[in-house]
Amino acid sequence: MKDQWERELSCAITCHRCNKQLAVKDRRILSVYDHQPICLSCKDAEEKKPDYADVSKRMIGTCMMETEVMYGDPGGYCYHHFYPFTCDE
Ligand SMILES: [Zn+2]
Repeated sequence: MKDQWERELSCAITCHRCNKQLAVKDRRILSVYDHQPICLSCKDAEEKKPDYADVSKRMIGTCMMETEVMYGDPGGYCYHHFYPFTCDE
């Protein structure tokens, strides 16, 4: 059984940033800025932002706490901001 965040985010059919189509087996990753699923080229662009290091550090600091209620699986959810995943994983 998939967790709620996985149903909502990991199987998104388009990149939230550039609207590129994402197939089930395409790798995607969560943005540390808005927690939306984005494609890996958008993640590359995101990583080049000057405040990326700060934002990602803050994100991981609060992620575990904040998402426990929302998603029930803070470990998996927070982890996927830094490691690409696919819909059927
Ligand atoms: Zn994209």
